Amino acid sequence: MDPAKRASVGARSDVRDDVRSETQLEEQVKDWLRYGEDLGLAPYYRDRRPLHAIAKSTALPNDAHSIATSNAISAAAPAAMAAAAPGRAPASPITVSASASQKSPTATILPASAPSLFESIERIAGDSLPRIREDIGDCTRCKLHKGRTKIVFGTGNPNAELMFVGEGPGRDEDLSGEPFVGRAGKLLTDMIKAMGLQREDVYIANVVKCRPPENRLPEKDEIATCSPFLMRQIDAIKPKVICTLGSCSAQTLLQTAQGISKLRGEWFDFRGTKLMPTYHPAYLLRNPAAKPEVWKDLQKVMAVLGLQPKKR
Ligand code: SF4
Repeated sequence: MDPAKRASVGARSDVRDDVRSETQLEEQVKDWLRYGEDLGLAPYYRDRRPLHAIAKSTALPNDAHSIATSNAISAAAPAAMAAAAPGRAPASPITVSASASQKSPTATILPASAPSLFESIERIAGDSLPRIREDIGDCTRCKLHKGRTKIVFGTGNPNAELMFVGEGPGRDEDLSGEPFVGRAGKLLTDMIKAMGLQREDVYIANVVKCRPPENRLPEKDEIATCSPFLMRQIDAIKPKVICTLGSCSAQTLLQTAQGISKLRGEWFDFRGTKLMPTYHPAYLLRNPAAKPEVWKDLQKVMAVLGLQPKKR
């Protein structure tokens, strides 16, 4: 082919590639915005200001519970962010490195120029698990407080390299105040041991700290109100790997509406920390045939952490 013609064909192909990637990016942005709308957080995305500025300008109603029970969760979300860190000084502005802003190509990702909701939450200088627990107090910020027996804050090694995140406490957890202590909890403990670790070596927490009635999934207003405490726990622990269990925690941290069967087994970046979604142990109790898939996911985690499987 004549060189001029070849150059022209090459240029057309480049243009097609550019159009394709722009279309993909547009779809990803639409996905993200849909998810924000679903959570009722669109105004927060549009008016993204530092946490301390929000805290100053957003007066919390005296009855904090009304935040979550009102339908205006979109207006309450910034207040929830500030309410999760009353009086705490934010750390220096977050710098999101180029690698931290790049996600797996299979993930629903945010454009590099727009930090995620949680990337926008400023880290609290010198934050610690005891301070976070103290800030939660005898929490009535969302309607889940009405039916709870105990707040299930989280448990484990405060310096853990591996952190598991589930959705919310069940009946046994609500009674004991410990996460993952029922049948699903026993299975999680077995999974941890199979990875060559003890339960005390890892940290285990949930997206919401109080039991949803009838073990239903946490609702969007409850997640928006409670999840800033989880973000602070993650920032305080600084694990090397976060392993989310089930769809709720993966969708919350990754801000995606994609199902767990699409997300599991893939690495994602969460504010500079590797995140591996896998199935919830409660799902495995109902579907034992999915255990090998979870084991594959855990083996990927073990490879990153340099762990050897427990010898049988
Ligand atoms: S779920 Fe979280 S925000 Fe809601 S009452 Fe419990 S601790 Fe407070």
